[in-house]
Amino acid sequence: MIRLDKYLADMSIGTRQEVKKYIRQGRVKINEDIIKKPEYKIREDEDKITFDGAPVAYETFEYYMLNKPAGVISATEDKRDKTVLDLIKEKKRKDLFPVGRLDKDTEGLLLITNDGALAHRLLSPKKHVDKCYYAKISGGVTEEDVRVFKERINIGTQEEPEWTMPAELKILEKGTVSRIRLTIREGKFHQVKRMFLAVGKEVVYLKRERMGALVLDEELAPGEYRKLTDSELKSIL
Ligand code: URA
Repeated sequence: MIRLDKYLADMSIGTRQEVKKYIRQGRVKINEDIIKKPEYKIREDEDKITFDGAPVAYETFEYYMLNKPAGVISATEDKRDKTVLDLIKEKKRKDLFPVGRLDKDTEGLLLITNDGALAHRLLSPKKHVDKCYYAKISGGVTEEDVRVFKERINIGTQEEPEWTMPAELKILEKGTVSRIRLTIREGKFHQVKRMFLAVGKEVVYLKRERMGALVLDEELAPGEYRKLTDSELKSIL
């Protein structure tokens, strides 16, 4: 049971004050009856609610695939910077959050949802969900780097080592700026950048392309998003 005004506000029909006004104006029906009391208790799973004649769908969970652009932060709110949630315009729920974090300057795949259990499963260090990144690296990437990444590398300090798990590094193009693809099975803070720093190189561009079975839709330009398809959702649930 939930108050009618809270329900409508959660569904982004308006602010709490606005929806109270709409309810009093008689624009909201529950099972065909006009209800003018904002405090009226509804049963989310059973009652059929309409606003101006259109059904208000109660989606328990929402799932969006976002191609995060650089310059936007992976948080739900921030005083200074634009967040990834500011980009999701059509969201119904107010409790969405990004699953994991990408650095402000990193682009690519970010799942936005309000499904906490799914987020926990995808992020749990025990599950080792692999993540694939495309990157441009300043300085020549070598076969020795491939070998070292495949074993383990200390991205901490000598006093407090932080060893990585085996990672797969593929060199796509060598040069003063090399292009690579890297698959890691964990998600330590700034992991990709710190792995390259540990071999004396710098990541100058980073984009996440895949997280477990979920692959970034190449049709999505940076800043664009769409709902997950049913098959994408099934592949990660
Ligand atoms: N590794 C990084 O260094 N940054 C990211 O944003 C993601 C992985």
